[in-house]
Amino acid sequence: MLTMLTTSLNLLTTGGDQFNFSSEVKIAQPVLTLSSELIILTFLVLLTSSPKIYKSILTIQATHYASIAPPYVSTLLGSFAHEHEECLKADGATEGIVKRRREAFETLLNKLKILFPKSSEIYDEIDEKFSDIRFFDVKKVFFPFREMAKKLSVCVVAEKTDGPYLIDSDGHRILDVSGSYGVNVIGYEGFKSIGNRAHDEVLKDMGPVLGPIHPELRGVLKQLVEVSGLPEISLHMSGTEAVMCATRLARFNTKKKFVASFGSAYHGWYDAVQPGVGNERPVPDIIVLNDMSDASLRVLKARANEIACVMVNPLQAFTPNQPPPSDGTLIGKVRDSGVANAREDFRAWLQKLRKVCSDYKIVLVFDEVYTGFRLAPGGAQEYFGVHADMVCYGKSVAGGMPVGVVCSTPELMRRFDPDHPLRLCYVVGTFSAHPSIVTCMNRFLNEVKKIDFQAKHDLYDIWVGNMNKDLQELGYPVRLAHFASVWLFQYTSPGRYHWLMQYYLRSRMVNLAWVGTGRLSFSLDFDAIHLAALRESILGACEDMDAGGWWWTSGEGHGATIKKQVNKEILRSVAISIGRKVGGVMGFGGGSSAKSI
Ligand code: PMP
Repeated sequence: MLTMLTTSLNLLTTGGDQFNFSSEVKIAQPVLTLSSELIILTFLVLLTSSPKIYKSILTIQATHYASIAPPYVSTLLGSFAHEHEECLKADGATEGIVKRRREAFETLLNKLKILFPKSSEIYDEIDEKFSDIRFFDVKKVFFPFREMAKKLSVCVVAEKTDGPYLIDSDGHRILDVSGSYGVNVIGYEGFKSIGNRAHDEVLKDMGPVLGPIHPELRGVLKQLVEVSGLPEISLHMSGTEAVMCATRLARFNTKKKFVASFGSAYHGWYDAVQPGVGNERPVPDIIVLNDMSDASLRVLKARANEIACVMVNPLQAFTPNQPPPSDGTLIGKVRDSGVANAREDFRAWLQKLRKVCSDYKIVLVFDEVYTGFRLAPGGAQEYFGVHADMVCYGKSVAGGMPVGVVCSTPELMRRFDPDHPLRLCYVVGTFSAHPSIVTCMNRFLNEVKKIDFQAKHDLYDIWVGNMNKDLQELGYPVRLAHFASVWLFQYTSPGRYHWLMQYYLRSRMVNLAWVGTGRLSFSLDFDAIHLAALRESILGACEDMDAGGWWWTSGEGHGATIKKQVNKEILRSVAISIGRKVGGVMGFGGGSSAKSI
């Protein structure tokens, strides 16, 4: 090795003079010379490209699977739906259990129809026209069960709110634990008082004046600087836009190309931060690394001269390296949120990440669109005690109005290059600093300071602990887990029908999030009375699940049976996909999917 190294170094420094062999030698060893040259040449190529190879190996080792695998996997699977009877016996249940399930399903279906006639009517009408609702609806259930689930689908048509209750078109009071995609932090009553006042005052008096600024902007900037600890602010219309602004400015001001993010963290639907599932456009300038991994830190160090910024969604502390465990992923596994020690483990990780970013001059971006104003008034920065170079906010920060915010330093917020007049970063938007939104934001930021977050989190901690004791004593295979005011359902034994829980909860007047039971949030106006009502609904839904035979198990080998069945379904799905492709190539019109579900 050493000899090879000296030889190649010689070659570099002497321009290859040592190979000016005499003609005699050349004649005597023609083959040997050729192969030696080849070896040396190969070695040289390897040597010059070795830093690249080294970095690629490091990156591959630390890359999160979800950013590479899904585009290929998703085309491997072809949709199919089980017939209703097939669904009922998908776990090999006995005829008696299947009969119980058949009756329980009919009972649930009728109950939902009787309870929600108006909502059902509206749902049937808008389902044909509103594509967004279909997207959320379908994603909740593992695909072979979607036809079965579709029969139960009723959207919540809400007309009013009263505290954390939605008053729907059928006149029910429905307890809302959806968190309105995470927007509802301070409670609807709080938002009403902020929004109504702001709208009345601003829109009535002046309408949507854009360009000239509103005097309330002063208060907003002052408060955002305090909250974020960063001196400059940029205002946008959504969390997605805030992330677009942050990544674009980080690239422009560091003159580096890559953005690094972490496994399964959501940063909005801007395709440049969403490689893999959900976006079929290849994204060549993002690296998605494993969360809480030293291998990822090695990549950041090795590629520091290419990586402009690292994006962190602090909500990943709850489910590191995983998306929220939607009911669509409940295909028989025991689901564990991985939430244990979330706060301490994630804090230690963020501290390490902070140090690497500071040492290697990489911009650390906290995407606090979800966590901002939910964990603490100062968001995840305050909760974990780690400061970022750029912070994105959104969702709740304008009192429920559409908004996106980026906070950072003057150096990172520059849109012009002081050395090159034509070099600029075009980040603007018509609705930046909209007067009524700015007014709502100012009022929200004032309100949020008054909340005792710790007292609220303690309340949820006690409630979750008590719920888990009750669930265990009653023998239900369900547990709850929480991270501050965000919480979810987990299951202690495998089952093919856990997804039905969301419909039983609906029949007991609970409104869940778009991923079903996989991510729920308490607004901070949830008190002991609301929690007691929620307890009754959850225990009631568990009783329904149990009585309906949905949690039947065959005993010890149940998990293995389910696994086998799921594998069979996956194989069937692959075969369908191949069949469609072959059919398509042969002109049998096999390219389309069987049913639009
Ligand atoms: N970042 C994070 C962390 C989010 O949770 C979300 C939305 N769930 C976004 C960005 C995108 O925000 P919006 O939906 O307002 O575009």
